[in-house]
Amino acid sequence: MLLPSGKVVYVSTPIYANSHFSWGEVTCNCTRHIENLILNKKLVISAIAIEKNIVKTAIALDEIRANLSNRPIKVNSWYRPALVNRAVGGKEDSRHQFGDAVDICSDYYLPSKIYTFLSMTHNGGLGLYPSFLHVDWRGYKARW
Ligand SMILES: [Zn+2]
Repeated sequence: MLLPSGKVVYVSTPIYANSHFSWGEVTCNCTRHIENLILNKKLVISAIAIEKNIVKTAIALDEIRANLSNRPIKVNSWYRPALVNRAVGGKEDSRHQFGDAVDICSDYYLPSKIYTFLSMTHNGGLGLYPSFLHVDWRGYKARW
């Protein structure tokens, strides 16, 4: 698929060199094209800024992965265009639309364990669910 920057990537293309995370994981196997986020006829964030958010998020997620003994982290959901977000019942202002939110789980750690691990230091959103953990980089602390 074609990224807003003009780069062509595939399902298994790493988000940046040496990342453990791929564009397929961001875009639901390259089915979600990165597009401008427009809410109430206003441009909230451009596609190119979303792409940059995704790269920053991947760097942060690789750091979390390293701090969790380098065990694989599974991505359930990452980027969601507004239409997809609405379809899955996401909040109107969901960070998934900005590319800087991930829903993750692990075969090695319970979501509650990762939540506890991140809770003290993570400057962003953390939402604990029975089968996964939502992590976002909204720029201020939020917990649920
Ligand atoms: Zn989420």
